[in-house]
Amino acid sequence: MSARILVVDDVPANVKLLEARLSAEYFDVMTASNGTEALAICRRAECDIILLDVMMPDIDGYEVCRRLKSDPATHHIPVVMVTALDSPADRNRGLEAGADDFLTKPVSDVVLIARVRSLTRLKMMTDELRMRAITSLEIGMQAPERSAVADTGKGGRILLVDDRESSYERLAMLLAAEHTVDVEPNPTEALFHAAEGNYDLLIVSLDLNNFDGLRLCSQARSLERTRHVPILAIADPENSTRLLRGLEIGVNDYLLRPIDKNELLARTRTQIRRRRYTDHLRDNVQNSIEMAITDALTGLHNRRYMESHLATLAEQASIRGKPLALMILDIDYFKSINDSYGHDAGDDVLREFAVRVRKSIRGIDLACRYGGEEFVIVMPETDLHVAGMVAERLRRSIAGEPFAIHKGTKRIEVTISIGLTTLEQKGEAVADVLKRADTALYRAKHDGRNRVVSQAA
Ligand code: GH3
Ligand code: MG
Ligand code: MG
Repeated sequence: MSARILVVDDVPANVKLLEARLSAEYFDVMTASNGTEALAICRRAECDIILLDVMMPDIDGYEVCRRLKSDPATHHIPVVMVTALDSPADRNRGLEAGADDFLTKPVSDVVLIARVRSLTRLKMMTDELRMRAITSLEIGMQAPERSAVADTGKGGRILLVDDRESSYERLAMLLAAEHTVDVEPNPTEALFHAAEGNYDLLIVSLDLNNFDGLRLCSQARSLERTRHVPILAIADPENSTRLLRGLEIGVNDYLLRPIDKNELLARTRTQIRRRRYTDHLRDNVQNSIEMAITDALTGLHNRRYMESHLATLAEQASIRGKPLALMILDIDYFKSINDSYGHDAGDDVLREFAVRVRKSIRGIDLACRYGGEEFVIVMPETDLHVAGMVAERLRRSIAGEPFAIHKGTKRIEVTISIGLTTLEQKGEAVADVLKRADTALYRAKHDGRNRVVSQAA
């Protein structure tokens, strides 16, 4: 998918120039000639990245940027400020307004494309995470956007990899005003150090003696423990072609020497905010996925997950012309286990039951807790005969070995009844399959429990 880039400039010729270059690289380009228009486009979530002119008549670029970054609906859109002058004061104002990057007019083609590509990757990832986070919001969780907007990007843990003493001493001193900094002057130790240290940011010099700083960056990108840690590269101006290479392999941002204090602090903050934001989203997504589909007591899937997934499995079986077996399992006289030994003992039985179920089924089978002491197992590509053998094996694995309760001080006999059936025909409603299995279960109970009853379709 190609990214949509919004070019904002009050001078039509400037807009045309950038539009032509970006279109040549297959980006989708949208344009706006003033800040108001640009804000409206961003709020409608129509663009992925914004290239923003600083000097514009109505609302200037700094103000547009500030508004975008303070609105939870737009603050994740990367903003690249396009300045006429390469003035540190201008850049600094932009960075303080929350800009993610800078381009100086006249804009070099290579730098333009490299920056836009790198920001596109970031945007695609945050979009994905945001989309899932919205789902978790619907389940009633905290808005990750809110805390991300509030985050100052200060108080980060930084690993600085630089072997020039005069350089790292100054950088460490500047950064220490807002962060905790560890210096690693030995590049061969740096990767290990980075993987162990749980850092929010790596700052890597590309002008190391006898060592390729880019190699370190690339290794950090491929190592599981450091993959998500942002990297800020530092280079001498004559090394700027290597910087471009760095951006391609996943370096997030860079600074050229001599390093301006404010620029260093602002870029560091931006990277740390971004890191925390994506971490937060990632955790949030992970938790909500697990919470949404898992039964807390047994660790099996819950009913909601089963119901949505069963429909997919049934559809697949229909399309491929494969059988699909489904069984409902119900613990016999479970109420009397609770009544005789207490509710906790009942819970112990449910947990141990789930363990035994997991041992008896294949990875592709779907086991879920359907109700209190009722479970459903769905077995793709399994006919009634084979499913009957699995059910019988399960029944025996429960009845054959007493269950430990009261912290292992007591053991009790438990049995289950199982109703079994298969998907009848192409397109049969899953509700009908469940009903048939339930009827079979009822017969198993009625016929004396601790048994399997199969009901052919
Ligand atoms: P049958 O052999 O006919 O299935 O009898 P039963 O006692 O197993 O069936 P019934 O449906 O009457 O009772 C099920 C009991 O399961 C009632 C309920 O209190 C208990 N139960 C449901 N969920 C839990 C749970 O999470 N923990 C415990 N300990 N008990 C539960
Ligand atoms: Mg029961
Ligand atoms: Mg029951």
